Amino acid sequence: MRVAGKDAVMLASNNYLGLASHPRIKQAAIRAVGEFGFGVSSVRFLCGTLTVHRQLEEKISEFLGMEDAILFSSCFAANEGFFASIVNDKLGSDQYRDVIYSDRLNHASIIDGTRLCRAEAVDRKIYDHADVNDLGKKLESDRGVGYRFGFIATDGVFSMEGDVAPLVDLVKLAKQHHKTLFVDDSHALGVIGATGRGTPEHLGVHGKIDVLSGTLGKAMGGAAGGYIAASKDLIAFLRQKSRPYTFSNSLPPSIAVAAIEAFKILEEDQSLVERLHVNTNYFRKRIQELGFKIIQGDHPIVPIMLGEAAVAMEMSEKLLQEGVYIKGLWYPVVPKGEARLRAQISAAFNKEILDQALSAFEKVGRRMQVL
Ligand SMILES: *Cc1c(COP(=O)(O)O)cnc(C)c1O
Repeated sequence: MRVAGKDAVMLASNNYLGLASHPRIKQAAIRAVGEFGFGVSSVRFLCGTLTVHRQLEEKISEFLGMEDAILFSSCFAANEGFFASIVNDKLGSDQYRDVIYSDRLNHASIIDGTRLCRAEAVDRKIYDHADVNDLGKKLESDRGVGYRFGFIATDGVFSMEGDVAPLVDLVKLAKQHHKTLFVDDSHALGVIGATGRGTPEHLGVHGKIDVLSGTLGKAMGGAAGGYIAASKDLIAFLRQKSRPYTFSNSLPPSIAVAAIEAFKILEEDQSLVERLHVNTNYFRKRIQELGFKIIQGDHPIVPIMLGEAAVAMEMSEKLLQEGVYIKGLWYPVVPKGEARLRAQISAAFNKEILDQALSAFEKVGRRMQVL
């Protein structure tokens, strides 16, 4: 990867599988432009639905073990379109209240989605990050309220720490309290789980989540597009009622065709996902052996903890001089005193590239007396 005219190892990209420049993906997109043109110039329900859009929706639902799926122009739009359509829909009655329990660290798109719900129609409750006890207490104390619909909303993988939502317990709590479990698996699709099916597969609850959302803009080629996967009825409802679906342009056919190809690659052959996991384990192990402190986990997001923002800033600059592109996160994105560099590992790396990055870390770490 070339950054500012220099060769650098890219540790700041969501291109977890290297599919953004994979020959099969590029060929699929080129083929689609030739066959279908550049764009469809229409929303889905007028003349913007090509066979490939339905094929992609079927591919997504099949891959995730869900009944059906619906495409949006992004996962941001999918999340906004989901909550706003369901919670605001009166379904024949003025007398109702819905409730959404949301993890404190959920992605901005879930937060904005719930903000689009009319205040008089919904109670929004924030539970402590990944804290099933706190959520359990809130659910327990709401037992008698008589809500119409209730949702528990969480990211599958949280992007600041690379940590995984406690889905096994969330599935249980949702069932016990008759709530709908909504999981945004954007950083997990194609990334975790033995076959890349995401957080539910990783935690042994594949097919047991009520609603999954995700992006095609990260591991699955990195272009654009998002989806909701759920029951047939729920998807049919969203096609009628979800405004970012109804009133926004259809995904370009090149993206639909290339995304189908990305799912096919994962279905045919697990080697990319396996290589991602091998690379991740190797980097996590070696960076700790060098003496860096990281947040433990299994995800290719590896937060390297440095404390002060100034240290993270300086280290990111010095690493670029040594041929490693990595970005820092500091307050207010993360708590004060928890500044970090966030590495993201890819299946496109080989051991030589990883070693090159690691030796740059060692050199800069020693020079800055961080090690
Ligand atoms: C990246 C991300 C999104 C946004 O996806 P887009 O398709 O780029 O809009 C939504 N949710 C989560 C959890 C993400 O990580």
